[in-house]
Amino acid sequence: MASNISGFYKMSQEERLEVLKQNCKISDEELHLLKELKPMDFKTADIMIENVVGVFGLPLGIATNFVVNGKDYLIPMAIEESSVVAAASKAAKIARLSGGFKADANKQHMIGQIQIMVKGKKTNSVIKKIRANKKALLEKANACDKVLVSFGGGAKDLIIRHFEGFIVLHLIVDVRDAMGANAINTMCETIAPEIEKIANCRTGIKIISNLAVYRLAKAKAVFTKHLLEEESGKGIVDEIIKAWKFALADPYRAVTHNKGIMNGIDAIAIATGNDFRALEAGAHGYACIKGNYKPLTKYYKDKNGNLIGEITMPLQFGIVGGSTRVNPMAKLCLNILGVKSAQELAEVAASVGLAQNFAALYALSTKGIQYGHMKLHAKNIAVQAGAKNYEIDAVAEAMISSKSINEASAKEILKKIRRDTL
Ligand code: NAD
Repeated sequence: MASNISGFYKMSQEERLEVLKQNCKISDEELHLLKELKPMDFKTADIMIENVVGVFGLPLGIATNFVVNGKDYLIPMAIEESSVVAAASKAAKIARLSGGFKADANKQHMIGQIQIMVKGKKTNSVIKKIRANKKALLEKANACDKVLVSFGGGAKDLIIRHFEGFIVLHLIVDVRDAMGANAINTMCETIAPEIEKIANCRTGIKIISNLAVYRLAKAKAVFTKHLLEEESGKGIVDEIIKAWKFALADPYRAVTHNKGIMNGIDAIAIATGNDFRALEAGAHGYACIKGNYKPLTKYYKDKNGNLIGEITMPLQFGIVGGSTRVNPMAKLCLNILGVKSAQELAEVAASVGLAQNFAALYALSTKGIQYGHMKLHAKNIAVQAGAKNYEIDAVAEAMISSKSINEASAKEILKKIRRDTL
């Protein structure tokens, strides 16, 4: 499979679906789901959440050109914001010319937290009893998820942390291909009464931590100097590094810098039925883990002056569990991706996050973010101004050529088009 599909953005829906059919392992039934724009029936939706009255739609786009660890991927992205898919595809196109993204997300360990209400002199004896029973506690945790254990996962370690008035036990669990929240919450709730018994103490709350510091994903890419200079002139590499340094120095900028990364990661998360709130919480928590909020990427030059981009962040993705297999669209998107493990999905997502961030810095350092964004957003503005299907393109194009992309212009143009066609 090759992901550098020329002119994908110009194709009709039929032609794009044909590309998916040729390149991905998706069934005719799944293609039908896409074609008919019917993501889910009522029964499925009603199983997933409470009080269901319908199904909410979001555009599903495919980012092209991605090569991660030598393998081509078509990236399904569910997102309402224009230009995210185009920006990711453009960055991936530049990166693929120097071999694509090298990514690594080898550990899938998550943390479960059990609060233990103990203070003063008794604390040491509680800790001693927990430590003495470590093996039995881990076995008890693993007994509640034989399936996870059969895949080589399960509870692996216990760590004690100290706070004013209580201690916290971290249960470290290898969650393999699951996101892991349900699995870990069950384990924590199962071993808490055991801890109360053996250490004669009271436990407080028990829940997974989304600060997934043992589940880091990394990706790296080279953006070749001559390609960037050819398009945007000399000095562009330095301009991008300066833009990154702004985020490094200033949390007001860093938050927006990381929001751009999450544009890509959330879009994959939603497409694959993953918990994007967990990913968001983990990303922003990790960004300020040392006390100051920092960018999740870094940029520097190699000895030839090429721009190197790197990303490191926690990514708690699953390819089983949650809604990944219940939501038919999520299953289909996982098939489009063709990933075989949560690790592989995290490696792809980290690469998309880096691509998204590079694209944003590149645009900000050259024409500004609104240039590409507003061109794509013009159609939304046309709809907002009341343009009907057959009028949308004409209104958007007229706004772009008059360089006035706003609702007032759209209304003005619409009035003119309607007058002219009378
Ligand atoms: P889950 O319980 O639906 O599925 C995980 C289970 O799948 C594992 O426990 C295991 O028994 C089984 N499994 C089968 N094949 C596996 C494989 N190859 N690798 C690993 N496990 C395999 O889901 P989950 O991943 O435990 O929990 C995810 C869900 O929990 C999400 O829907 C999330 O929204 C929700 N949730 C999140 C939070 C939070 O993030 N704070 C809190 C509560 C619930």
